[in-house]
Order: sequence, then structure tokens, then C-alpha cells
Amino acid sequence: MNVLVIAPHPDDESIGCGGTICLHADRGDRVAAVFLTSGEKGLTDLSQEDARRIRERESEDAAAILGIASVTFLRRPDKHLEQDTLHAAEALKPILQREKPEVIYLTHERDFHPDHRACVSIVQAALRASGIATPALLSYEVLTPLTEYDRAEDITPVMRRKLKAVCAHRSQVRQFRYDRALLAMNRFRGVVAGVGRYAEVFRFANGCMSGIPLDCRADPGWHRLYAAIQEIIKVVPAESSFILVDDGCLEAPALIAPRRYLPFLEKEGRYWGKPPDDATAIRELERLRNAGASFIVFIWSTFWWLEYYGGLHRYLRAQFPCIRQDERIVVFDLRTRSRT
Ligand SMILES: [Zn+2]
Repeated sequence: MNVLVIAPHPDDESIGCGGTICLHADRGDRVAAVFLTSGEKGLTDLSQEDARRIRERESEDAAAILGIASVTFLRRPDKHLEQDTLHAAEALKPILQREKPEVIYLTHERDFHPDHRACVSIVQAALRASGIATPALLSYEVLTPLTEYDRAEDITPVMRRKLKAVCAHRSQVRQFRYDRALLAMNRFRGVVAGVGRYAEVFRFANGCMSGIPLDCRADPGWHRLYAAIQEIIKVVPAESSFILVDDGCLEAPALIAPRRYLPFLEKEGRYWGKPPDDATAIRELERLRNAGASFIVFIWSTFWWLEYYGGLHRYLRAQFPCIRQDERIVVFDLRTRSRT
């Protein structure tokens, strides 16, 4: 998966989503980072040129700790991004076209810092101009906490690395103990979201979660579902369609796009209840397969199907390769039949 992190200033990336970047990098995702400004006004005792040089070097050190593969500095004017939206978007466009990210991390639009707020419209304008498939836009929090969030990432295993990356921004941590602030923030998030000791939280910036009620998204079960969706995205290629066995509970097509999923059973595109028996399930499976479904995905809440519909399960095992089986999803590839 290609991941792009957009930081208005050096250090926003480490503070806002440093832990999540580590997790992506450790999973083998390509993570690129773009710094809209180089924070040249953040060191008032130095010339802007010297400040820029120092902060860019610190960003590269932090990037190496986090596992970021590529760093780009757009050198737009620090503290004046609001007046520079068009130029910044123009500069960002070729990077979007090069990286083709599936996920973009960015600041949120209620942040107290004007540059952080401007970042959201810059990214949206650059995306429109780029013509690339719209990625998921996940907003992170720097010093203004998000009042609502859609998902929480357990960063406990990489918390020390995140702190090290934040402290690599030496010139900034000397002025303000960002490391202490986010240690408290990430601990708070971990406890409240119930996902682990330390967590980072994110809100979707493109409204793709608006169909999912907030109380559902605040539930730890939601974060498990989100993790399952991320796995589906990895095994099911974009543009393909698949059968999703979820008892009709997942209603987030925008999160899976451009993949398309069919409920099971399906009638006129809608969930049609559970099959009465194995024969119906197998017949419907073949019908949807002939209609173009390339995979069948069971999520953990429907694993009981694999026992209850033993005939369907045996049929799948005999006919198609099982390409993923873990505690969250089971996936069969319907494109080619196994040789028996
Ligand atoms: Zn910033």
C-alpha cells in the first residue's frame, strides 16, 4: 500500500501520526512524506535560510527513525499557507501523481494553527487537479485534539520509536516539550478508545464515514472492523468485485472503493438474509461468481457460517484457493478453480 503523509511543518508528521507511520513501514507499506513548509519561522534567532536547513535535516533524521521512504520539501511560506493555497496545491499535484497514495494523513480543519487548517484545502485542491483515484483522507491531531474520531490505532509497540522521532526535531523540542505533551495525549487516547496503552486517533476528512454513526465509530469493535477492511484492501485488488459475508453489518462502501462488494445473499444489490441451506448458498455463490465476483470474504463475525454451512465450506475448500485466513478475515480466490 502507498501511504502519503502531509505535514504543514517539520515535526507535525512525528507528533500527529509517527506511531502509525512506523506501523505502516513495518508492514511493508511505502510511506512518503511531504512538508509543505520547512518551518523556517520556527527558529527566530536564525536567518530563515539557516532555520530551513536545520529543520529539513531534523525532518530527515525523524523520517529515517519512522521508516519513511521518501521526503519532499515544498518550501511554501511558513505561517502564510492560507495565502498560498493555490501555489501549494500546484506543487503538491505531481507528488500525488507520482505516489498514487491509497491513504493520505493530514492535519484537521479545526486545528488552531492556520497553516494546519489550510493544509486540508491544499490537499483537496491538489487531489482534484491530479486526476488520481481518491484516497482515504485521515486527519491527525497535533496540539488541537480532535473532538470526534473515526478510528484509533494502537501504537504501544512503537511508542518509543515515535518519541525518538519527535525528539529528532531537536530545535523544536528545546523550545517546547512536544514529547511530554503527546505522551500524555496518546496515553489518554489509548485508554478512552480501549485499543491499547498508547493510541493515535484519526478522523476521515472526506466524509466517507458520515453514514456510520459516531457512537458506532467510538466503539472498540469498530476499530476491529476497520482493521478487517484494511486487510481486505490488501488482498482484493482495486477495481475488482467480491462477495462479502458480513450479515449485512458493514455499510461503508466508500472505504473499500474502488473495489465493489456484493452482500451474501444478494438480491438487486442488497442484502437478502442468510441462505436456508448449503445448496442455495453454493448456487448463489456460483451465480455471483459468474456475474464477476472474484473473491469471497468472511469477516470474523460470520466465521460461524464456516461450521454451520459445512457443505458450502467444503465446496469452497475443494474448489478455490484460500488466500487469507487469520483472526479477522477468511478469503477465497474465486478467479481460478483449484486442481483436485
Ligand atoms: Zn505544524
